[in-house]
Amino acid sequence: MRPYFLAGNWKLHKTPSEAVAYAKELAEAFASVTHRVMVAPTYVCIPQVAEVLKGSPVLVGAQNCAAAESGAHTGEVAPAMLKEAGVDVVILGHSERRSIYGESDETINQKVKLALSAGLEVILCVGETLDEREAGKAMQVVEDQLRKGLAGITGDQLDKITIAYEPVWAIGTGKTATPQDANEIHQGAREVLADIYSTEAAEAMVIQYGGSVKPANVKELMAMEHIDGALVGGASLTIENFAPIVQFD
Ligand code: PGA
Repeated sequence: MRPYFLAGNWKLHKTPSEAVAYAKELAEAFASVTHRVMVAPTYVCIPQVAEVLKGSPVLVGAQNCAAAESGAHTGEVAPAMLKEAGVDVVILGHSERRSIYGESDETINQKVKLALSAGLEVILCVGETLDEREAGKAMQVVEDQLRKGLAGITGDQLDKITIAYEPVWAIGTGKTATPQDANEIHQGAREVLADIYSTEAAEAMVIQYGGSVKPANVKELMAMEHIDGALVGGASLTIENFAPIVQFD
């Protein structure tokens, strides 16, 4: 059985003091949580949030990392630095990184490799735009992003990787893919993983859904066979929304 993994992506929200106050609420609310839970604050909040969450089951995430270990890369933060600051998991290939900051599949693949070698877990995000979906290319786009994002990653590294399927048209828009639509892509993604690795490896991989997940729709999404968790943006910012998502059952 795959464990459910519910992750909050705070994006560009919360100052360090706000993040610390919220992390304290989370540590208390999720002290005996049964699913895997993670929150990803901005870089500057990570050390303090990690300190608050130490000893709690809530994992610390980062929203990105550099595609290099060190050197002349102004404004970047390397995976090993995140690890030392208390990060457990890094989100890579988020659609906002791809579209606003122009990250290519090759760059994302480089980041995946460096993050794993620094001892971090990875959430690799994939998903199609509205144009791509309407052109009937959703599965093709997801397959391509998976194959390129995972290039050179071996089967024995897969237990450190979670896939997040996030249709771009559903992120921050209030539009959610229907549970059936999402499940269909998740199943297709699992078939791609089986083709690259093995059926057993693909069956063991956790595939999150992301895009306007909220308390009102989380239960039916999680009930789908191939949906094993959620990557949550807006609704991860308050305990009122995030607690019922994490404790959906
Ligand atoms: P949303 O964001 O839940 O606000 O739609 C999801 C994401 O971008 O990870």
